[in-house]
Amino acid sequence: MSCVFVLDTDHRPLDPVHPGAARRLLSRGRAAVWRRYPFTLILKRAVPDAQPQPLRLKIDPGSRTTGLALVTEPDTAPPAEEERGEEEENEGRVGRVVWAGEVTHRGHAVHDGLVTRAAVRRSRRARHTRYRPRRFDNRRRPEGWLPPSLESRLANTETWVARLCRLVNVAAISQELVKFDIQALQHPEISGVEYQQGTLAGYELREYLLEKWQRRCAYCHATGVPLQIEHIVPKARQGSDRASNLTLACEPCNLAKGTRTAEEFGHPEVQAQARCPLRDAAAVNASRWALFRRLREIGLPVEVGTGGPTRWTRARRGLPKAHWLDAACVGASTPERLAVAGIRPLRITATGRHARQMCRMDRFGFPRTGAKATSVVGGLRTGDLVRAVVPAPSVKAGMYVGRLAGRASGMCNITTTQLGAV
Ligand SMILES: [Zn+2]
Repeated sequence: MSCVFVLDTDHRPLDPVHPGAARRLLSRGRAAVWRRYPFTLILKRAVPDAQPQPLRLKIDPGSRTTGLALVTEPDTAPPAEEERGEEEENEGRVGRVVWAGEVTHRGHAVHDGLVTRAAVRRSRRARHTRYRPRRFDNRRRPEGWLPPSLESRLANTETWVARLCRLVNVAAISQELVKFDIQALQHPEISGVEYQQGTLAGYELREYLLEKWQRRCAYCHATGVPLQIEHIVPKARQGSDRASNLTLACEPCNLAKGTRTAEEFGHPEVQAQARCPLRDAAAVNASRWALFRRLREIGLPVEVGTGGPTRWTRARRGLPKAHWLDAACVGASTPERLAVAGIRPLRITATGRHARQMCRMDRFGFPRTGAKATSVVGGLRTGDLVRAVVPAPSVKAGMYVGRLAGRASGMCNITTTQLGAV
């Protein structure tokens, strides 16, 4: 069950509680609702000597969706060795997911917006106006600059980390730092015995190949069939085990190819694609490093993990594929057993706040509206979640819950997922 966050009256975070306990606190008048998303109560008394249980915030950053999970730290005090059987050892390492969330980013929307802006500027410049010099390279970028689409993803994640740190006692952070440990792929011997023959063998590699070859057979492009790791230049002909000589093939193609190379099999393009490394991996890794540096500035210990072991940890615990479960499995600190029953992740959608544009434009890039008016109307502003009651004579009479779009005139729009009035 996802827990409810609790603050004392001085906004000190306390232990999250079961929803049933939260209901009792509310019905007995001991607490009030402080935030609805994530659901948080505020007690009506101070608890200055509270010692809330330390939690670990785990993050799986993604380009579209970032998974977040708050996991209890298993009891670290080691019990007497001889009294513990294997069962008990596992018992001691049970971690519980207290809360989970999935942030949907708007990186693609940011990118599209900037492309549109660039296009209308370009077209205005070329039209019957006075000559205006290009001005795309007359500014210096500050240290650590990231493209706005990446910056937005990072800012979303940072916002939620800061928010959760205010609501619960976060003692440590785990972050998936790189999707693929490229060093480990290319030079297996440097990463120790675990990569070569231990439990991790093949996991990092398999994830990398699935991503690189788009989860389909490289030869017949079949999807949804069992795929085998296949040597482009066969081992029988001294082909190597390096990632650049490997691809994915379905069983029929693998058998049909036999000891021929991909080129001899009639697929020179596979051989060409195998030589270029996965381009995305570098870009994704770049923004994850930036996130790591920013998380470290918070001052909490940050543990890092890579993608392969995360998938392996999740598969070994029998958990399905979900962003928040990936997050819960990041890093070596993941407990032996994870209690996830009843957790429903909070689905968070990044919406951006306001626009820098001074007025709306038509599709030719010319101003269409007056100058931007204030965004705060009657104490409410664009983006607020509101419940509006429209009185009876109106055709739209009813109660609506949704996101407000403020207008200076006081007539506001509400975007709602409800089909009709409630
Ligand atoms: Zn095939």
